[in-house]
Parts: sequence; structure tokens; C-alpha cells
Amino acid sequence: MSGYRMMMLGPPGAGKGTQAKRLAQELEIPHVSTGDMLRDAKRRDTELGREAAEYMNAGKLVPDEVVIGIVAERLEQDDAAQGFILDGFPRTRPQAEALTDMGVELEAVINIEVSDEEVVRRLGGRLSCPECGAVYHKEANPPSQDDVCDKCGNRGLVTRDDDRPEAIKQRLASYHRQTAPLVEFYEQRGVLEAIAGEAGPDEVTQEILDRLAD
Ligand SMILES: [Zn+2]
Repeated sequence: MSGYRMMMLGPPGAGKGTQAKRLAQELEIPHVSTGDMLRDAKRRDTELGREAAEYMNAGKLVPDEVVIGIVAERLEQDDAAQGFILDGFPRTRPQAEALTDMGVELEAVINIEVSDEEVVRRLGGRLSCPECGAVYHKEANPPSQDDVCDKCGNRGLVTRDDDRPEAIKQRLASYHRQTAPLVEFYEQRGVLEAIAGEAGPDEVTQEILDRLAD
């Protein structure tokens, strides 16, 4: 492989963000998440950043052309010269095509595969602290005292609306709908790397690194 121009794909709960952070550290390239990028553009007060801020402040989705412009600006910064890991973008086939049109050809698209059942198990067991935002898992990472937040001591952990079974099914359906054409797009370009995502996070990181070294 000639470089590390990469992107992460995977359903909610697959651990994309965690893996992207670890890979960024391991490979010494920036982890470029959509949320961080928008905040960065806002902070640097670029024209596109101001435009994005207007949508965000109004509680609206930032339109494709603005997001794409911000990604282009971000990838032109010096720290991205040796590569980058995109996380949360592109999300749709038109966004992927726009990225290609900008002259950005990805070299590896890491698709972390986790079954729908496992996603439901992972997200369905989530407990959140309404006071400080800490997140626990009923089985994988329970609080040390039942129903009490380890971080802030608040009593009363909750299942967020987003993590209720019906909402999880909807999130998965929209993920599959948007992602299938994206997977096909990158498969045709020969850069798709399917990674079994049901192992522990350390094994998944190692598998990705092994694959990249091939
Ligand atoms: Zn808390």
C-alpha cells in the first residue's frame, strides 16, 4: 500500500470511532471525523465554517455541498499529507462521488462488519447518565453500583430514546439503505477491506493493521 488515505465504515455500535482513534495513533495520521471537522472549520472561521454554523445553530442538517467543501479544506492541511482516516464521511454515494471528483482517491475503506443482532445487543444494553453523559453497558461495562453513575454519583441511569429497540431498528435500516451503494462503489474500485467486527476491540485493531500491511 502506498499510503493511508482511509475511511471507516460500519453500523452504529461497530466501534468505528474507537478503531479510527487507535489507527490514527498507530499510523500517525489524523482522525478526521465529520463532527470534529465542522467544529474546526467553525473555530478557524472559514467561509464554509460560518455557513455550516448557520445550519447547525438552526438545528438543521448541513447540506452536502457545504460538508464536502469543509472536507476538502481539511484534507489540504499539512498534517493530512501522509494520509488520514475519515470517519462519518462519505455517508452516501453522491458524497463518495464528490470526494472522487475533488481528486481524493481513497486507498482503503475499512468496513467493520457486525450483524444486526449484535448491534441490537450492543446498543440495546446501553445505559446513559442524564447528568454527565457517561455511557455504560448492562453486560459489557456495568456501573460498579447498580443504577449509580461511577463518574458523577448520579442515581438513575437511563436508556436513551435512540437506544430503544424500535429506534435501533430504524437506525440500522437507514444505515443499510445508505451504505449498500457505498460498499458497492468502493468494492468496484478494489479498496474495500471487510473486517469481522464481533471480536474484541484489540483483535479488531490488529486485524485491520495486518490487512493494511498486506
Ligand atoms: Zn454521571
